[in-house]
Order: sequence, then structure tokens, then C-alpha cells
Amino acid sequence: MLQVSHLSKSFGDHQVLKDIDFETCHGNVICIIGASGSGKSTLLRCINLLETPTSGQIFFHGKDITSKGSNVNVYRSKVGMVFQSFNLFNNMTVLQNCMAGTTKVLKKDKKTAEEIAMKYLKKVGMGEYINAKPHQLSGGQQQRVAIARALAMEPEMLLFDEPTSALDPQMVGEVLQVMRDLAQEGMTMVIVTHEMAFARDVSSRVVFMADGVVAEENTPAKLFSNPQQESTREFLSRFR
Ligand code: ADP
Ligand code: MG
Repeated sequence: MLQVSHLSKSFGDHQVLKDIDFETCHGNVICIIGASGSGKSTLLRCINLLETPTSGQIFFHGKDITSKGSNVNVYRSKVGMVFQSFNLFNNMTVLQNCMAGTTKVLKKDKKTAEEIAMKYLKKVGMGEYINAKPHQLSGGQQQRVAIARALAMEPEMLLFDEPTSALDPQMVGEVLQVMRDLAQEGMTMVIVTHEMAFARDVSSRVVFMADGVVAEENTPAKLFSNPQQESTREFLSRFR
């Protein structure tokens, strides 16, 4: 479904991503782990074309989405993103947040958009809060709304950038549970996370990034129990 090939990204003369390769298939969950500053967010932002890669390619169903003439808007509507800081529209209600993309980008009529929004708000356990504004909700509730908003676009793949890092500890579990359910249902996901137990349970593969490169990539069982690189061992030891 997604293939990242020789991807590099520089900001000025600072090379943040160096020759990144990885791929994922339909229904797989890839967790990306690594220290702060290793380039995880930049990689996700390149995959979503929020950043333009300096070199390399990103193929989606075999088509190079970084090539001139590829339809960025169609691609973006198929790839949802959930951010650490939720990024909800603060002036809109929960329901309006979950209808904005479907009405404006997918051009659904209001009734259909509302039905879709309700379906996913119920799925994340936020069906009771449709008229609330984001500031009236806890962080965990806001993040669940952000996930419902992404799901309302009925994307083929979801990208998550540290979705639980901004949450109070007691709210982390409710968001991870929604993501576990999505994984169970076969949603294709690429997840940057520091939740190692979650990554171990849910991932098809784990990618460890260090200094802008993929230092190690493996099944969670192998990567967590028998890391091959010293840098991976050192990183994982911080979580014990
Ligand atoms: P991570 O998500 O793993 O913490 P990031 O991808 O956010 O890492 O950042 C990797 C490096 O790229 C950092 O050194 C950061 O300062 C730099 N960086 C990220 N975005 C920009 C930008 N827009 N302009 C300049 N430097 C950036
Ligand atoms: Mg980051």
C-alpha cells in the first residue's frame, strides 16, 4: 500500500531524514519509535506531504505521489492524520469538526455527512458530546474526536504522531483502546509512539529511528526482546 524509498529531507543544510526505506501493506500497523529529534514527525509529515521530501519517493498503491502531476488532494483524503495536539477546530462543535472534511473535501451532503460523523463519534465513545466545543472536553475526549474526524473521511490509512503524548496519564488508556480496536478491525496505521507496551502488542512491524535513519526494523517480538543494534538497546533501556 505504502512504500517509502530512499527518502531524504533537509531543512537548509540540516539533513533530518537520510535515505529512509520502509513499506507497509493493507491492514498492517507500523509503530515508529525513537528518541526526540530523530525525525519521526518529519517522516510522517513527508508521508502526508505536509513536507516536501528533498529526495526519494513515496509510492501509494504503486503510484509515486511525490511526482509532479500526482493528485495531492485525492491522496490526502485517503490518508488521515492524528496529531499530538489534537488540532480540532476550536470554534466548531464536536459534530461540526467531524463533518468539515466530508462536506468540504468529499462534497457529501449535510445529512450524509452527519450520519457518517455520528457513526464514528459513537465508535470512539463520543456520541453523547456532539454539541460540545473542544475546550469543554478532556484531552482524551478531544483526541477521540480527532480520531473520529479522521475516520469520517473513510481513509485507507491513518497516521498518528504521538497521539497520547499530550495526555494526562489517566487518559492515555482510552485513546490507546480506540487505536487497538482499529488495529483489530484491520485499519492500516503508521503510529509514532512512546507507548512501548502498546507498540509490542499491536504492531505488525516496529521501526526504530535514530538520527534520521531507520536504525532497526523488525517484528515487535524480535525488536523488543532481541534488539540487534546498540542504539536500539540503549533506547529501549530507558523504558524499563
Ligand atoms: P521527532 O518527531 O523524532 O522528535 P522531528 O521530525 O520533529 O523529530 O525533528 C527532527 C529534526 O528536524 C529536529 O532537529 C528538528 O529541529 C528538525 N526540524 C523539524 N522540522 C523542522 C522545520 N520545519 N525547520 C527546521 N528544522 C526542523
Ligand atoms: Mg515528533
